[in-house]
Amino acid sequence: MSKRDYYEILGVERGADQKEIKKAYRRLAQKYHPDRNAGDNSSAEKFREVSEAYEVLADNEKRAAYDQFGHAGVDGQAGGFGAGGFGGAGAGGFSDIFGDVFGDIFGGGGGGRRHPNAPQRGSDLRYNLELDLEDAVTGTSVDIRVPRHVECGRCDGEGAEPGSSKETCPTCHGHGQVRMQQGFFAVQQTCPTCHGSGQHIKVPCHECNGQGRVRETRTLSVKIPAGVDTGDRIRLNNEGETGINGGPPGDLYVQVAIKPHPIFQRDGKNLHCEVPINFVDAALGGELEVPTLNGRVKLKIPAETQTGKLFRLRGKGVKPVRGGTPGDLICRVALETPVKLTEHQKDLLRKFQESLGESNSHSPKKSNFFDGVKRFFEDMKS
Ligand SMILES: [Zn+2]
Ligand SMILES: [Zn+2]
Repeated sequence: MSKRDYYEILGVERGADQKEIKKAYRRLAQKYHPDRNAGDNSSAEKFREVSEAYEVLADNEKRAAYDQFGHAGVDGQAGGFGAGGFGGAGAGGFSDIFGDVFGDIFGGGGGGRRHPNAPQRGSDLRYNLELDLEDAVTGTSVDIRVPRHVECGRCDGEGAEPGSSKETCPTCHGHGQVRMQQGFFAVQQTCPTCHGSGQHIKVPCHECNGQGRVRETRTLSVKIPAGVDTGDRIRLNNEGETGINGGPPGDLYVQVAIKPHPIFQRDGKNLHCEVPINFVDAALGGELEVPTLNGRVKLKIPAETQTGKLFRLRGKGVKPVRGGTPGDLICRVALETPVKLTEHQKDLLRKFQESLGESNSHSPKKSNFFDGVKRFFEDMKS
């Protein structure tokens, strides 16, 4: 199907200026707009035609290309193009046009594509590393196995079997990209035939199946500095994917996550832990053994210690990876109700309870609480 002339579609002279083109487009776009012609297929088709013509003629570079080469000059942008889509233009001839006239248009329109055979930096890789809290606090060295793609040794990354040659991709003529029409939008896509390389491999390398790269698992030793925390990243320069076409390799990022610990919870440079105490120790005071990351320490508990009270052990936390003073270990005491009591022990407790009498003076929280409850109900009555 041959396309109508863009100037003819808009109804303007070939020498029309941008103002005239814009005016003509506005008038026609309003006339054929889908909102005004619901369900009218011929209007929708005219609207598409008008939009396409305007897209080309409103852009001075595209218009120049159209004036010089006709539809073939701009089909790559507005219509789908593929093998043989250029009205018999020889592949070599078209490649020249493509490179000379359209290089700038494709490259300049934002998100410019590099040439497929230009050196490209390899991708960065991410490795998720789970660490025990102890290792994170003291620092350690970990061996990790990293799967990645490296240049194929058999074909030196060329993808072609040694001794065979490559030819220019017949679909994209070496550009690596094709333009596809989706509705009114032309989108640029990687060439499906050559996957962007612009070259066609006649005999693929037996080792890498023409990919030029093979998968390899490497064992790397990673030094974990003392004090790392969940969310920290350790960068290993040049340990990412191999670069393409001789480009530099990417980096490997080791993403740290600290495993939950049975005793300590970490909060930045501070550590928290809960220490159970029995109610006799809490009432009389005494000495508790509490765990720290470097051994047990004694903690003095004063008499009349209530549950939930926090004790701070300065400097028993974590020394931050970026330097500074170590954090603290914060112990929260939790009063424990005795279990599995003998009849004799229960009897002692009942006697103890009797000795307290009716007064709440031995239970400061309880007396405050019931005073509060009493006030609450009195306030409700008034
Ligand atoms: Zn291609
Ligand atoms: Zn190979």
